[in-house]
Amino acid sequence: MNPSIDLVRADLRDFAGYRSARSEQLDGRVWLNANESPWSNLADPDESLRRYPEPQPPALRAALAGLYGCEPAQLLAGRGSDEGIDLLVRATCRPGADAIVVTPPTFGMYAVAARLHGTRVVEVPLIDRESGFECDFGTVATAALASAARLVFLCSPGNPSGTLLPLDRISRLSRELEGRALMVVDEAYIEYADAPSAVSLLATHANIVVLRTLSKAHALAAARIGSVIADPALIAVLQRCQAPYPLAAPCVERATRALAPACRAATQARIANVRNERELLIAGLRAAPGVMRAYPSRANFVLARFAAPQAAFERLLAQGIVVRDMRAAAGLGNALRITIGTPEQNAAVIGLLGETAMAALPPDTVQA
Ligand SMILES: *Cc1c(COP(=O)(O)O)cnc(C)c1O
Repeated sequence: MNPSIDLVRADLRDFAGYRSARSEQLDGRVWLNANESPWSNLADPDESLRRYPEPQPPALRAALAGLYGCEPAQLLAGRGSDEGIDLLVRATCRPGADAIVVTPPTFGMYAVAARLHGTRVVEVPLIDRESGFECDFGTVATAALASAARLVFLCSPGNPSGTLLPLDRISRLSRELEGRALMVVDEAYIEYADAPSAVSLLATHANIVVLRTLSKAHALAAARIGSVIADPALIAVLQRCQAPYPLAAPCVERATRALAPACRAATQARIANVRNERELLIAGLRAAPGVMRAYPSRANFVLARFAAPQAAFERLLAQGIVVRDMRAAAGLGNALRITIGTPEQNAAVIGLLGETAMAALPPDTVQA
């Protein structure tokens, strides 16, 4: 058997999924097979919305594969990496029986997807060290084997920890879990880390799955396009578990344009700006009174601990600046997570936390 699909639920290994009209792959001129309207909507003069979209548009899939350095057959595009997380849980975990491992504080969607599916969540907390949060790889391996977890979710760089996980440790853990669990490496923020992706391990590690997204560094959160990158056999199983038409045509069209060479330099420039601003924000926070700790970050946010987190949160909010309150997360009872904004926005945050005067800010046009 293929090692990557040994971990798929036995009852789904040869599940065909829904056969949509599109999946028949027939050739014709007059399409009367999918109950679409023969006339377009008045609001759709170029008729781009009349027909169901391609399940996996080849141009988008090729562009994403090029961007991430894999083969198109190793990649499944979906509605954000959120959908990828959900598909992985549903395809590998038997409801009411299996488990996943997560490393809190971490992205909440792993536990949400597991809970919705009736899957147990085993927690192996990150270790809070002087140098920042660290993953306890040894305990992750032990916990995954002891709980017979099907999936281990690692987030690198971590949200909200900001920590980049070393690829050699990811590689070693994946070997230890070979045939026992899939290792999901969520790289939603890897573009900001200036570090190699775990995609480079796929050729030699069949149980690694990488999640990437256009929502962060590519500035396309509303397009809802994320990718699962893994062994082609596993990708094929996940696609059969996915909705028949997961990607909306307008989103595909815009995302494909956004990945064209013409947009690449601008994306790189935005990323470089965020990296510069991140270091300024960290330095500013560390100098601000009342900031007990600003963690290092390889992502586009900074996690910080405050002597009076409620007061800091309210002082920012009073000026219309909304940051993420992390206080409900275990071990983060005094922490806020601040996304890197424009230089003006970041300076305003520092100014307010340093209790110096702040110039009036132009409001953001959208609510995060
Ligand atoms: C933002 C984020 C995502 C991205 O989710 P999308 O559904 O692709 O928008 C995935 N993982 C983590 C850790 C995130 O912070």
